[in-house]
Amino acid sequence: MKEIVLAADLGGTNLRMAAIDRSGAVLFRTRRQTPRGERPDEIVRAIVESAIECQNNCSDFQVRAICAAVPATVSVERGLILKAPNLPALDDFQMAAALENELGVKSILENDANAAAVGENWLGASKGFASSIFVTLGTGVGGGIIINNKILRGMDGTAGEIGHICVEPFGVPCGCGSRGCVEQYSSATAIVRLAKDLESQYPKSGLKQHLHFTAYDIYQAGAQEGDELAIEIFRQMGFYLGVALAGLINVLNPEAIIIGGGASAGWSLFIPHVQKTICQRTYHIPAKRAQVSIAALGEDAGIIGAARLAFDSSI
Ligand SMILES: [Zn+2]
Repeated sequence: MKEIVLAADLGGTNLRMAAIDRSGAVLFRTRRQTPRGERPDEIVRAIVESAIECQNNCSDFQVRAICAAVPATVSVERGLILKAPNLPALDDFQMAAALENELGVKSILENDANAAAVGENWLGASKGFASSIFVTLGTGVGGGIIINNKILRGMDGTAGEIGHICVEPFGVPCGCGSRGCVEQYSSATAIVRLAKDLESQYPKSGLKQHLHFTAYDIYQAGAQEGDELAIEIFRQMGFYLGVALAGLINVLNPEAIIIGGGASAGWSLFIPHVQKTICQRTYHIPAKRAQVSIAALGEDAGIIGAARLAFDSSI
């Protein structure tokens, strides 16, 4: 019987699950809303139901393992969720053991940005590189760092928090307790905030006609209409992202930096500023080495990476 794995990507809003074979092909996929209860049971039940749905639709295959990518710091060895800021019901929860009990297959956990980094490294934009950094620009800024084909975890599994690199020491307060984190300047949320901060300086901007605009609306105003406010927002956003990436390049000397997440759609407006800032703030040799590219797998990076980790896990 051919082997497959089940790969889950648990987000604050959606739970996505797929049955994936050894080549990385998605054989079946399902999506549902993430339950927002106070106890972890409902989330476990949602994952289990999705897993069973995938199994039932792939009954010619044997399930080797399940890997859940979660928006949390995790202890991978202990299968333990340490802290899940957007799903606090999961703090200190033994998720791997709970899934293993219910499903009867080997279950492992991984941080969602680490899983996406592995996915892009397996089948996406950093394929073939031994050392790469994945940055995701969404509601926040997430990161996954792979050095010599291994995820950089740190002693407690908390490494790779690229979003909390400080780029403005006395800047905007951050949810982590610090100030001026790159998440406050380069996430999709930050792009919208920058628009509100700067709009009074741009009385002619067409964006002022919109009551509620998203980061994507701002990008379109800049890319299609040349809106000066939108262009300035992406200049600042790209500059701050460049400052953070320059620091990573100087410290880690990676081969590739991959930028994904919803706000990466603004690529054409921000990447010139990212590149310029990297050039100004790094040594020449590591700057020349680091290829900066847009992510290739979109929303699937997390499940593809989780699948790879499930195949790689020893049983
Ligand atoms: Zn922070």
